[in-house]
Amino acid sequence: MLGMLLRNPAMANAPLTWVYGLATFMVADAITGSTLFVTLTLNTANVLGVLTAWLYLRRKDKEVLTFQRQRSVLVMFTGCLLGAVGCTAAGAWPGSIAFGVPLWRSMALWVSGEFYNFILIVPLFMAAPKGWFWTWQGTFKDWNLGMLLPLLALAVSEALSLFIGGPGSIAFIMPAMVWCAMTFGVFPMAILNILVCFGKTATIAMGALSFTPDLVMEATSYRTGLALLSLAPLAVACAYALRMHALQKLSHAVNHDFLTGVLARRALIERGQKLFSRLEEEGQSVSVLMLDIDHFKLVNDRYGHAQGDVVLQDFAVLARDALRPEDLLGRMGGEEFAIILPRTQREQALAIGQRLCDKFREHQFPLANQDSMRATISIGLHTVSTIGRQETLEQMLSKADEALYQAKNSGRNQVRQYGPLLAPSSL
Ligand code: GH3
Ligand code: MG
Ligand code: MG
Repeated sequence: MLGMLLRNPAMANAPLTWVYGLATFMVADAITGSTLFVTLTLNTANVLGVLTAWLYLRRKDKEVLTFQRQRSVLVMFTGCLLGAVGCTAAGAWPGSIAFGVPLWRSMALWVSGEFYNFILIVPLFMAAPKGWFWTWQGTFKDWNLGMLLPLLALAVSEALSLFIGGPGSIAFIMPAMVWCAMTFGVFPMAILNILVCFGKTATIAMGALSFTPDLVMEATSYRTGLALLSLAPLAVACAYALRMHALQKLSHAVNHDFLTGVLARRALIERGQKLFSRLEEEGQSVSVLMLDIDHFKLVNDRYGHAQGDVVLQDFAVLARDALRPEDLLGRMGGEEFAIILPRTQREQALAIGQRLCDKFREHQFPLANQDSMRATISIGLHTVSTIGRQETLEQMLSKADEALYQAKNSGRNQVRQYGPLLAPSSL
């Protein structure tokens, strides 16, 4: 109930939700044949526990609640502890009367049991990606066979802990759980935590430890220990996911031009070189295009630098749309771009270059005063039909640049291919 309310704040603000919650708990209890006194008092305590945790957690940012911040696990711990204390304050006394146990025992069982339930189940709701139930492929898209290793380690350490036994065996699984946490995200870890904790509780309850009021301190200590141990893998998974996310953002920022979003010069050269090695093994052709917007300085002078930026951004979109996913597009600097077309012969590359020239010339860039402006582009092209060691990417780029220089000198707004005669494009 707490998980659902935190994920749907509008639901929590409707008073009827709380009444429905209590009614649902009571119906579930009535089915098991409890008396009205027990059903009413204990389930009111459950709902009050949810309310206590909710009053604290509802003030927290969505990012904190959904495990996207470093302190998420500590916040969740505090919320769940408050929830357990809220349940206990309202339920321990009626519980002690209903089951005829001393008040302190009833309190210990309530607080440990409720904390155990909260801390295992609430993270499952909060870490679940939106719509995960309906998009299984999305949730598990990055899974591979290597990911079975940490699960195997978990199974082996669980078997060892059962075999060796003793109070220390509760933590035998910790290294495997940390490994799992570094391999899977927070949500799969929340699932694993539940499976491991419920599994452990079940196996030990069957033999070594029975959860009756006679063994109340052992039961309380064991359950609390398990619940607290589950926080460590969650914290590791959370920190690891945050670090990966930060690294991805950093790598994207380093490899991409911030204005146009296309590859930055260094990333284009690096990826291009890798692509060249692959194409060399395959004995394939490759074409390289250098592109430069014509009289761009005039665009800036006439319409302002901001409008110049729009022209650059629109060019990037037009070019990206005209290319295949395997083609590489990068900004070499200023208003100069380069394109690498793998497995593309001269005629095809000329056609692509000409199409880009035409699309750019025909594109209308809207201006603030309902007016619009146009711009043109010049392109130099160089193709190698069977790529070998004789021609590096840098050499090809410089030949395409020479062809671009010829395109500029021949009146701009055209494609030129590199060659001894530097003939105008036949298209
Ligand atoms: P050409 O047809 O011979 O290429 O002439 P051009 O004016 O396009 O070339 P030039 O190299 O003289 O000018 C390029 C201009 O591009 C100068 C510079 O201020 C501008 N520029 C470079 N980077 C940016 C940018 O990020 N945004 C904007 N708005 N302008 C930029
Ligand atoms: Mg230019
Ligand atoms: Mg230039």
